[in-house]
Amino acid sequence: MKHFDSHVHIGLINEDPMEQLLVIQKSKQKKITKMLSICNNLVDFDNVYNNLISESSVYHAVGVSPSEVTHPGKDWEKKIEERAALRNVVAIGETGLDYYRKFGDKKSQIDLFIKQLEIAEHLDLPVVIHNRDAADDILDILNDKLPSRGGVLHCYSEDWKFADTVLSRHNNLYISFAGNVTYRNARTLQETAYNMPIERMVVETESPFMVSSAFKGKRNMPFYLPATVEFLAELRNIDLEEFSDIIYKNTLELFNIND
Ligand SMILES: [Zn+2]
Repeated sequence: MKHFDSHVHIGLINEDPMEQLLVIQKSKQKKITKMLSICNNLVDFDNVYNNLISESSVYHAVGVSPSEVTHPGKDWEKKIEERAALRNVVAIGETGLDYYRKFGDKKSQIDLFIKQLEIAEHLDLPVVIHNRDAADDILDILNDKLPSRGGVLHCYSEDWKFADTVLSRHNNLYISFAGNVTYRNARTLQETAYNMPIERMVVETESPFMVSSAFKGKRNMPFYLPATVEFLAELRNIDLEEFSDIIYKNTLELFNIND
Protein backbone atom coordinates (compact mmCIF):
# COMPACT_ATOMS: atom_id res chain seq x y z
CA MET A 1 0.00 0.00 0.00
CA LYS A 2 1.24 3.48 -0.94
CA HIS A 3 -0.13 6.96 -0.27
CA PHE A 4 0.33 10.30 -2.00
CA ASP A 5 -0.39 13.36 0.16
CA SER A 6 -1.56 15.90 -2.41
CA HIS A 7 -1.22 18.99 -0.18
CA VAL A 8 1.43 19.60 2.49
CA HIS A 9 2.71 22.95 3.74
CA ILE A 10 6.15 21.62 4.61
CA GLY A 11 7.52 25.09 5.30
CA LEU A 12 4.72 25.79 7.78
CA ILE A 13 5.15 22.45 9.57
CA ASN A 14 8.66 23.52 10.44
CA GLU A 15 11.08 26.15 9.17
CA ASP A 16 14.06 24.09 10.26
CA PRO A 17 15.51 22.25 7.23
CA MET A 18 16.55 19.21 9.31
CA GLU A 19 13.08 18.92 10.82
CA GLN A 20 11.53 19.01 7.35
CA LEU A 21 13.69 16.10 6.27
CA LEU A 22 12.71 14.16 9.39
CA VAL A 23 9.02 14.66 8.63
CA ILE A 24 9.56 13.25 5.14
CA GLN A 25 11.51 10.31 6.54
CA LYS A 26 8.82 9.50 9.04
CA SER A 27 6.13 9.82 6.36
CA LYS A 28 7.93 7.29 4.15
CA GLN A 29 7.88 4.84 7.04
CA LYS A 30 4.09 5.24 7.13
CA LYS A 31 3.95 4.52 3.37
CA ILE A 32 3.43 8.12 2.27
CA THR A 33 5.79 7.54 -0.61
CA LYS A 34 5.01 10.82 -2.37
CA MET A 35 3.78 14.24 -1.38
CA LEU A 36 3.11 17.59 -3.00
CA SER A 37 4.72 20.52 -1.23
CA ILE A 38 2.62 23.69 -1.23
CA CYS A 39 3.84 27.20 -0.45
CA ASN A 40 1.83 30.37 -0.10
CA ASN A 41 4.49 32.57 -1.64
CA LEU A 42 7.67 32.42 -3.66
CA VAL A 43 10.05 33.10 -0.78
CA ASP A 44 8.77 30.00 1.01
CA PHE A 45 8.90 28.06 -2.23
CA ASP A 46 12.59 28.86 -2.70
CA ASN A 47 13.45 27.88 0.87
CA VAL A 48 11.58 24.58 0.80
CA TYR A 49 12.60 23.68 -2.74
CA ASN A 50 16.27 24.25 -2.08
CA ASN A 51 16.19 22.31 1.14
CA LEU A 52 14.43 19.32 -0.40
CA ILE A 53 16.16 19.36 -3.74
CA SER A 54 17.50 15.82 -3.35
CA GLU A 55 14.19 14.37 -2.13
CA SER A 56 12.82 12.81 -5.30
CA SER A 57 9.65 11.70 -3.48
CA VAL A 58 8.64 15.32 -2.85
CA TYR A 59 6.91 17.15 -5.69
CA HIS A 60 6.23 20.86 -5.69
CA ALA A 61 3.54 23.33 -6.65
CA VAL A 62 4.57 26.93 -7.28
CA GLY A 63 2.27 29.90 -6.99
CA VAL A 64 0.92 32.73 -4.91
CA SER A 65 -2.00 32.02 -2.59
CA PRO A 66 -4.87 34.47 -1.97
CA SER A 67 -3.34 35.29 1.44
CA GLU A 68 -0.53 37.11 -0.41
CA VAL A 69 -2.82 39.13 -2.70
CA THR A 70 -1.63 42.50 -1.42
CA HIS A 71 2.06 41.52 -1.69
CA PRO A 72 2.69 38.87 -4.36
CA GLY A 73 6.27 40.13 -4.75
CA LYS A 74 8.15 41.79 -7.58
CA ASP A 75 7.97 40.05 -10.98
CA TRP A 76 5.96 37.24 -9.45
CA GLU A 77 4.57 36.01 -12.76
CA LYS A 78 8.03 35.67 -14.29
CA LYS A 79 9.30 33.98 -11.12
CA ILE A 80 6.52 31.40 -11.20
CA GLU A 81 7.34 30.56 -14.81
CA GLU A 82 11.06 30.15 -14.01
CA ARG A 83 10.41 27.91 -11.02
CA ALA A 84 7.82 25.85 -12.87
CA ALA A 85 10.62 24.61 -15.12
CA LEU A 86 12.54 23.11 -12.18
CA ARG A 87 12.70 19.37 -11.58
CA ASN A 88 9.71 17.89 -9.70
CA VAL A 89 7.59 21.03 -10.03
CA VAL A 90 4.29 19.58 -11.24
CA ALA A 91 1.56 22.15 -10.58
CA ILE A 92 0.68 25.83 -10.22
CA GLY A 93 -0.72 26.85 -6.82
CA GLU A 94 -2.02 27.01 -4.47
CA THR A 95 -4.15 29.73 -5.94
CA GLY A 96 -7.86 30.53 -5.71
CA LEU A 97 -10.24 32.69 -3.73
CA ASP A 98 -10.70 33.17 -0.01
CA TYR A 99 -13.59 35.47 0.86
CA TYR A 100 -13.74 34.18 4.41
CA ARG A 101 -10.58 35.87 5.56
CA LYS A 102 -11.08 38.89 3.30
CA PHE A 103 -7.53 39.17 1.97
CA GLY A 104 -7.29 42.35 -0.13
CA ASP A 105 -10.50 42.85 -2.10
CA LYS A 106 -12.43 40.44 -4.30
CA LYS A 107 -11.30 42.00 -7.55
CA SER A 108 -7.60 41.72 -6.76
CA GLN A 109 -8.05 38.12 -5.58
CA ILE A 110 -9.83 37.28 -8.84
CA ASP A 111 -7.07 38.94 -10.89
CA LEU A 112 -4.35 37.02 -9.06
CA PHE A 113 -6.26 33.75 -9.54
CA ILE A 114 -6.98 34.26 -13.24
CA LYS A 115 -3.39 35.21 -14.01
CA GLN A 116 -2.19 31.96 -12.47
CA LEU A 117 -4.79 29.93 -14.38
CA GLU A 118 -3.41 31.52 -17.54
CA ILE A 119 0.18 30.71 -16.53
CA ALA A 120 -0.88 27.09 -15.91
CA GLU A 121 -2.48 26.91 -19.34
CA HIS A 122 0.59 28.43 -20.94
CA LEU A 123 2.92 25.98 -19.15
CA ASP A 124 0.58 23.01 -19.60
CA LEU A 125 0.37 22.32 -15.85
CA PRO A 126 -2.56 21.53 -13.53
CA VAL A 127 -3.64 23.96 -10.80
CA VAL A 128 -4.17 23.50 -7.07
CA ILE A 129 -7.29 25.50 -6.22
CA HIS A 130 -8.18 26.97 -2.84
CA ASN A 131 -11.80 27.95 -2.24
CA ARG A 132 -13.25 29.40 0.90
CA ASP A 133 -16.72 30.97 0.75
CA ALA A 134 -16.21 31.75 -2.93
CA ALA A 135 -17.90 28.82 -4.70
CA ASP A 136 -19.96 30.86 -7.18
CA ASP A 137 -16.99 32.89 -8.40
CA ILE A 138 -14.77 29.79 -8.58
CA LEU A 139 -17.39 28.04 -10.71
CA ASP A 140 -17.71 31.03 -13.08
CA ILE A 141 -13.98 31.49 -13.47
CA LEU A 142 -13.26 27.80 -14.06
CA ASN A 143 -15.87 27.72 -16.82
CA ASP A 144 -13.64 29.91 -18.95
CA LYS A 145 -10.23 29.50 -17.44
CA LEU A 146 -9.59 26.00 -16.12
CA PRO A 147 -6.36 25.00 -17.90
CA SER A 148 -6.34 22.01 -20.24
CA ARG A 149 -4.39 19.97 -17.70
CA GLY A 150 -7.17 20.54 -15.19
CA GLY A 151 -6.54 20.68 -11.49
CA VAL A 152 -7.79 19.91 -8.03
CA LEU A 153 -10.23 21.56 -5.67
CA HIS A 154 -8.17 21.07 -2.55
CA CYS A 155 -9.51 20.65 0.99
CA TYR A 156 -13.01 20.38 -0.41
CA SER A 157 -15.65 22.17 1.66
CA GLU A 158 -18.72 22.55 -0.57
CA ASP A 159 -21.71 20.22 -0.88
CA TRP A 160 -22.42 17.36 -3.28
CA LYS A 161 -24.51 19.55 -5.59
CA PHE A 162 -21.54 21.83 -6.23
CA ALA A 163 -19.20 18.85 -6.73
CA ASP A 164 -21.64 17.25 -9.16
CA THR A 165 -21.92 20.49 -11.15
CA VAL A 166 -18.22 21.22 -11.37
CA LEU A 167 -17.15 17.60 -12.02
CA SER A 168 -19.71 17.22 -14.81
CA ARG A 169 -18.52 20.40 -16.47
CA HIS A 170 -14.81 19.56 -16.28
CA ASN A 171 -13.59 16.04 -16.86
CA ASN A 172 -10.04 17.02 -15.86
CA LEU A 173 -10.89 18.27 -12.38
CA TYR A 174 -10.33 16.34 -9.15
CA ILE A 175 -11.58 16.81 -5.61
CA SER A 176 -9.26 16.41 -2.65
CA PHE A 177 -10.47 15.47 0.82
CA ALA A 178 -8.62 16.47 3.97
CA GLY A 179 -8.97 15.40 7.61
CA ASN A 180 -12.14 17.46 8.07
CA VAL A 181 -14.13 14.80 6.20
CA THR A 182 -13.64 12.58 9.28
CA TYR A 183 -15.32 15.04 11.67
CA ARG A 184 -18.52 13.89 13.32
CA ASN A 185 -20.49 16.92 12.06
CA ALA A 186 -19.16 16.70 8.49
CA ARG A 187 -22.27 15.03 7.04
CA THR A 188 -22.37 17.25 3.94
CA LEU A 189 -18.75 16.55 3.14
CA GLN A 190 -19.19 12.83 3.74
CA GLU A 191 -22.18 12.83 1.39
CA THR A 192 -19.94 14.27 -1.34
CA ALA A 193 -17.20 11.73 -0.65
CA TYR A 194 -19.79 8.95 -0.80
CA ASN A 195 -21.44 10.07 -4.03
CA MET A 196 -18.60 11.35 -6.15
CA PRO A 197 -16.92 9.33 -8.90
CA ILE A 198 -14.01 7.56 -7.25
CA GLU A 199 -11.72 8.14 -10.25
CA ARG A 200 -11.80 11.88 -9.53
CA MET A 201 -10.96 11.64 -5.83
CA VAL A 202 -7.61 12.42 -4.20
CA VAL A 203 -6.57 12.96 -0.57
CA GLU A 204 -4.40 15.36 1.39
CA THR A 205 -3.49 16.31 4.92
CA GLU A 206 -3.17 20.09 4.41
CA SER A 207 -0.51 19.78 7.15
CA PRO A 208 -0.01 21.45 9.58
CA PHE A 209 -3.76 22.27 9.52
CA MET A 210 -6.99 20.22 9.39
CA VAL A 211 -5.90 17.20 11.43
CA SER A 212 -8.27 14.23 11.18
CA SER A 213 -10.39 13.30 14.20
CA ALA A 214 -8.11 10.31 14.92
CA PHE A 215 -5.34 12.74 15.92
CA LYS A 216 -7.53 15.49 17.37
CA GLY A 217 -5.57 18.21 19.15
CA LYS A 218 -2.30 17.42 17.36
CA ARG A 219 -0.50 19.46 14.78
CA ASN A 220 -1.20 17.76 11.47
CA MET A 221 1.54 15.83 9.67
CA PRO A 222 1.67 14.03 6.32
CA PHE A 223 2.17 10.74 8.19
CA TYR A 224 -1.37 11.07 9.60
CA LEU A 225 -2.81 10.68 6.09
CA PRO A 226 -3.61 6.93 6.38
CA ALA A 227 -6.36 7.65 8.96
CA THR A 228 -8.23 9.78 6.40
CA VAL A 229 -7.75 7.15 3.68
CA GLU A 230 -9.07 4.43 6.01
CA PHE A 231 -12.09 6.57 6.88
CA LEU A 232 -12.92 7.16 3.20
CA ALA A 233 -12.46 3.50 2.24
CA GLU A 234 -14.88 2.52 4.99
CA LEU A 235 -17.36 5.23 3.93
CA ARG A 236 -17.25 3.96 0.35
CA ASN A 237 -17.29 0.36 1.51
CA ILE A 238 -14.21 -0.56 -0.54
CA ASP A 239 -11.30 -2.73 0.45
CA LEU A 240 -8.62 -0.44 1.89
CA GLU A 241 -5.82 -1.71 -0.32
CA GLU A 242 -7.89 -1.37 -3.47
CA PHE A 243 -9.09 2.10 -2.46
CA SER A 244 -5.54 3.31 -1.69
CA ASP A 245 -4.34 2.09 -5.09
CA ILE A 246 -7.10 3.96 -6.91
CA ILE A 247 -6.46 7.20 -5.02
CA TYR A 248 -2.71 6.93 -5.54
CA LYS A 249 -3.15 6.36 -9.28
CA ASN A 250 -5.59 9.28 -9.51
CA THR A 251 -2.99 11.55 -7.94
CA LEU A 252 -0.28 10.45 -10.37
CA GLU A 253 -2.66 11.19 -13.23
CA LEU A 254 -3.66 14.57 -11.84
CA PHE A 255 -0.05 15.72 -11.58
CA ASN A 256 1.12 13.86 -14.65
CA ILE A 257 3.71 11.83 -12.75
CA ASN A 258 5.13 8.48 -13.83
CA ASP A 259 5.60 6.16 -10.89
ZN1 LIG B 1 -3.08 24.85 1.63
